[in-house]
Amino acid sequence: MTHPEFDAIVIGAGSVGNPTAYFLAREGLRVLVLDELPSSGQGQNKAAIGGVRATHSDPAKIRLGQQSLEIFSTWATTTGTDIGWKKGGYLFPAYDEAVEGELEQLLPTQKRFGLTIDWCDAETVRRLVPGITRIGLRGGTYSPDDGQVSPLRASEAFTNAAVRHGAVYRYRESVTSLRMDDHAVTGVGTDRDVYRAPVVIDAAGAHGSRIARMAGLDVPVLPESHEAGISAPVRPFLDPLVVDLRPGPEGTTSNFYFGQDADGQIIFCYTPKQPFPGENRTSTFEFMPTVAARLVELVPRLKNLTIRRVWRGLYPMTPDGRPIVGPAPGVKGLLLGLGMCGQGLMLGPGVGRNLASLVLRGRPSIDPDVFALLSPSRDLRTDRKESLK
Ligand SMILES: Cc1cc2nc3c(=O)[nH]c(=O)nc-3n(C[C@H](O)[C@H](O)[C@H](O)COP(=O)(O)OP(=O)(O)OC[C@H]3O[C@@H](n4cnc5c(N)ncnc54)[C@H](O)[C@@H]3O)c2cc1C
Repeated sequence: MTHPEFDAIVIGAGSVGNPTAYFLAREGLRVLVLDELPSSGQGQNKAAIGGVRATHSDPAKIRLGQQSLEIFSTWATTTGTDIGWKKGGYLFPAYDEAVEGELEQLLPTQKRFGLTIDWCDAETVRRLVPGITRIGLRGGTYSPDDGQVSPLRASEAFTNAAVRHGAVYRYRESVTSLRMDDHAVTGVGTDRDVYRAPVVIDAAGAHGSRIARMAGLDVPVLPESHEAGISAPVRPFLDPLVVDLRPGPEGTTSNFYFGQDADGQIIFCYTPKQPFPGENRTSTFEFMPTVAARLVELVPRLKNLTIRRVWRGLYPMTPDGRPIVGPAPGVKGLLLGLGMCGQGLMLGPGVGRNLASLVLRGRPSIDPDVFALLSPSRDLRTDRKESLK
């Protein structure tokens, strides 16, 4: 029996898989994308609140974020498709010395990597976030080039563009095995068929380590639950996405962030103080009262918001908080695009462009020394380091 043959197979039609497929197909490769869900972007991609920034503290994330921003911000003009891009920047307000110190300490690295970011005084913060609490406000950092997109529109846009370049998408099809010959991958088996290709890209998100295990690899990507919510639309008043790094009351939360999307809806999220490992996606009783208290404390004018919906999704976490991107050690033809933590939407296009460059040219499209920080061969048993979640 002959099996369908491709140049590359991408496992996962998500935040990483779709741009990866697009960049590969655009350069003429015959690409197959497999996803076990019924359509594109239905995994953790659609759980994202849409924040897109290059403002990180890790050089590799900065570089990938810059590439993603370039791709997102020019998408409408280059393709004619609206992905809900809004260039409103990111604002990190500081209400205490500790947060001010943390933010200022990051500025030299961020500027060295060419990010447009600076410290701004309290008055500027109040102008950027009308109604923000004045008491104790010391100022903050602001990066005007960052922004927001609609995760579902972006995923659909990458999928459609990949398909226009010849990529084939198969949904409701779960990858159950990797086909190997000696130490090289030769294709994948699914619950329906077998497909052959000399290159396989594991972009299976929170389940990426299961795929890697099919090649005998132990890749530590562990799902962690996070919640978010969205309001009914209100008159546009807020440009930046706001990240409050202070811990919440009674140790419930660490950072908390919110913004207003291109449709006027307020979207919000927080990082629980104690992580919730696992795949529980049932909304918690605590989320809405906790996040509402933080939102209204920071911007009292939001006290009358109507909340439309809350949801809970998964961050694919790694031990050091950095993605795992590059050739899988010891398995020829297998590449990993995993462990995006809470930043897969904003890193996805950059990761996709670099994975495609590795496949086509044998090198990443960012500085190889910086890219090496994401190497699947690095010591992955260290603690989390990145401070800007
Ligand atoms: C509440 C919340 C808010 C967030 N906000 C943001 C944000 O503002 N900005 C940001 O950048 N990130 C945000 N994130 C994180 C972001 O959603 C993830 O990092 C990102 O979606 C991960 O992308 P991925 O491509 O790795 O995984 P996914 O998008 O989940 O894609 C993986 C795909 O692989 C498929 N798959 C898995 N196993 C198999 C298999 N065996 N066979 C076939 N298919 C398979 C899945 O069905 C899925 O579609 C947020 C996450 C949450 C939970």
